[in-house]
Formats: sequence, C-alpha cells, structure tokens
Amino acid sequence: MAYSDKVRGQYEDTLQGIKDAGIFKTERFIHSSQAADIEVEFPTGSELKKVINMCANNYLGLSSHPEVIKAAHEGLDTRGYGMSSVRFICGTQDIHRELEKVVTEFLGTEDTILFPSCMDANAGVFEAILNEEDVMISDRLVHASIIDGIRLCSAMHDTFKHSNMQHLESKLQLHADKRQKVVITDGVFSMDGDTAKLDEMAALCEKYDAMLFVDESHSSGFIGKTGRGTHEKYGIMGKVDIITTTFGKGLGGASGGCVSGRKELVEMCRQKARPYLFSNTIAPVVVSGVLKVFDLISTNTERRDKLETNTAYWRKGLDELGFVLKEGDTPIVPVMLFNAKLSQDFSRDLYDEGIYAIGFFFPVVPNGQARIRTQISAGHEIHHLDKALAAFKKVGEKHGILGLSKQEIIAKYGL
Ligand SMILES: *Cc1c(COP(=O)(O)O)cnc(C)c1O
Repeated sequence: MAYSDKVRGQYEDTLQGIKDAGIFKTERFIHSSQAADIEVEFPTGSELKKVINMCANNYLGLSSHPEVIKAAHEGLDTRGYGMSSVRFICGTQDIHRELEKVVTEFLGTEDTILFPSCMDANAGVFEAILNEEDVMISDRLVHASIIDGIRLCSAMHDTFKHSNMQHLESKLQLHADKRQKVVITDGVFSMDGDTAKLDEMAALCEKYDAMLFVDESHSSGFIGKTGRGTHEKYGIMGKVDIITTTFGKGLGGASGGCVSGRKELVEMCRQKARPYLFSNTIAPVVVSGVLKVFDLISTNTERRDKLETNTAYWRKGLDELGFVLKEGDTPIVPVMLFNAKLSQDFSRDLYDEGIYAIGFFFPVVPNGQARIRTQISAGHEIHHLDKALAAFKKVGEKHGILGLSKQEIIAKYGL
C-alpha cells in the first residue's frame, strides 16, 4: 500500500483540471433496454425520464429485437454462458466458426476471424501482418482504435489529408520502395457521417500495388443496396483486402468484432494477433445473437431500407427548419452549432423536451466545430422523428439559430 496523500493529490488535481477544462465525462444511467424509447436517470438520483434516443449506434434497431433476444436465449441454453478460454486453447465452438463463415459470405471476402471487439481487431491486425519493411498510410481522421493498432506495429506510419486523393497518391509514390503498403481508412467516418472515396482509393491501391484496409463499424449492415457496406456502395466488393467491423453497433449492438479479408492475412491474424491469442473468446450467447442478426439482414433489406427512408426524412426535416447540417447520406446527421457551450445548452434543452442527443465539442471534434450528433435508426417510427423535429424547432428558436448560416451562428455565439 503506497497511495500517499501526495499521490492522491496529484490525481485529484489532474481530475480537477479535466473538470476546469469543461471536458469531464459523466455517465447517464439508462434503466430500460436499448431502443428508440428509453428511460433515463439524469442527473443521477433524479426521477426516471422517458426520452427518445437520437444518439445510439443502433442503426438497424436490432439491439432489442425479439428474434435476436430469443436466439441469444437459445444460445445460452444450448452452449452455456462463457467459454473460460481464448479461441485457440478451448474457446472455439462450432458456432464461432459458423459466424466467421456467415460474415465472410455477407461481406464478400475470403475468410474472417472473430475478435473480442473491433477495438481489438484494429489493435491486433497491423502487427500481425506487417513489419519494419512496410508502411501504413492512414487517413488523418481514422478511428482511435486504428491509431492504437498503428502504434503497436513496427511498420512505418504516414498519413494523408482527410479524403484527399491527390495527397494519398503522393504518399503512395513517396513510399513506393516499401515491401508492403497498406492504405487505411474508415468506411463511414463517425463524427461527420461522410463516406470514404473507396472507389478512387481502390484504383490508387491497384496502381501502386498497395493493400486497402477499411473499418466498416459505421457501415456494416446498412450502407450499400443490400447493406454489405461501403465497398458495396462503391461497387468494389471483393477489392478490399482487409475489412474490420464491430457487432457492437448496427449488427445487434452487443459486442465483438472481426477481421475479414484475404485468407492469408486472416490466417496471419490467427497465428499472431495478440488480442486474438490472449483475450477471451466472444461469449456463446453473443455469437448466437449475431448469427440471428445476419440471418435477419441477409434474407431481406427491409431494415436498411427503412433506415434510409428515416434518414432522408430526418435530414429534410432539419434542413427545412433551417439548421446547418454536415452534408451526407448516412444515418449520422451532425447538427452544427460550432460553439462548445451552445452545444451543451442545446443538448440539455433537448433533454427537457424528451429528446436524448449529446453535444460534442473539442477534443472529440475539432475546435470550433461543436455539434449535436444525431443518429437515425430503423427502430425509429415517423412519430419519433416528428417529435424530435418539434423539439429541435423549439430549442432552435429559443437559441435564435434557425435559418442562420455558419457565419451568423459564429458571429452570435463565438467559437
Ligand atoms: C466503435 C468503433 C470501433 C470499436 O468497436 P468495438 O467493437 O466497440 O470495440 C472501431 N472502429 C470504429 C470506426 C468504430 O466506430
């Protein structure tokens, strides 16, 4: 025991610094299951409030789907609660391999390996397939888990400006002498909701003999005509060498992730990826639920179609009210407020109106780009969206920003 007052004081000071900077995170307790309608205790200790959730990654509305829950129950009954092992010792059931085959088929790849999470997939994959002779060239806005995976890998790292294909090409030319080159991007970027220019990236990778890596966490299940992902949207299925994705968002929202792609690369992960070798297998109950999710979304496109319709309705509604939106066509719809304090006030006022949507500001998004990030779900009905639009209108009027341009909002509230 050596936790002296001096040591404690240092941590207290650090935490106070985080509070003083206005970036201290607090959790809000949800007392219901994840869905369009949730019951929230906020602030802690207050009475439960029924609100509409506008900020979950529950894109397909499957987080509490009765058939998924039923399948999970069956998995629990037939395969037990936990495996108490990593995959390669005694943590692989037939259903783990079955899920890998189902994901491979769905994504149109050669093989798949499950990881405890997509964070783990991204943390393990680069180190498993690259060495000092290689280079990783990543978009500057890739997800934090990719950045961690890059840090753990001995290959050289370089970046290109967000979605800037000229810059990417110049980097591919610069690193032409490397053994392997991997171009790394998110399929859909979670903060802005924009999509990577995957067709152009695939063409550049072909030209310069580089591999293409895409994290599809905010795409799998709903982007593209049949929901296969960004590669389907851009007509390049089969051309992405490495896809990582999560089962913790649109695909049921429980947990788990994978690396899917060229079979040799997947095999390298099975031999060498440390989160695969040294972290517990995905629980059978979750595997059973995810199998049902793929069953539901592979047989018809009803849910991703409804998500698309909802998203168009929501974007149009906000646009007509006069909000400044980030352009795009994904279910991530950022309402731009620019000023950090305004984003917090706006979020609190929405909550009072029964709408749960969190305000983001620096350092989660760049300075001066504070926003409310809304996320649409196939679990939303039009009455949810109408109620949310009415609340946005009321709160927008209160703060006097409806119909204002970016410059006018900044002039009024500052950055
Ligand atoms: C959420 C997310 C992850 C992490 O997924 P988990 O399975 O929750 O670890 C990885 N990459 C991207 C792009 C994400 O949005």
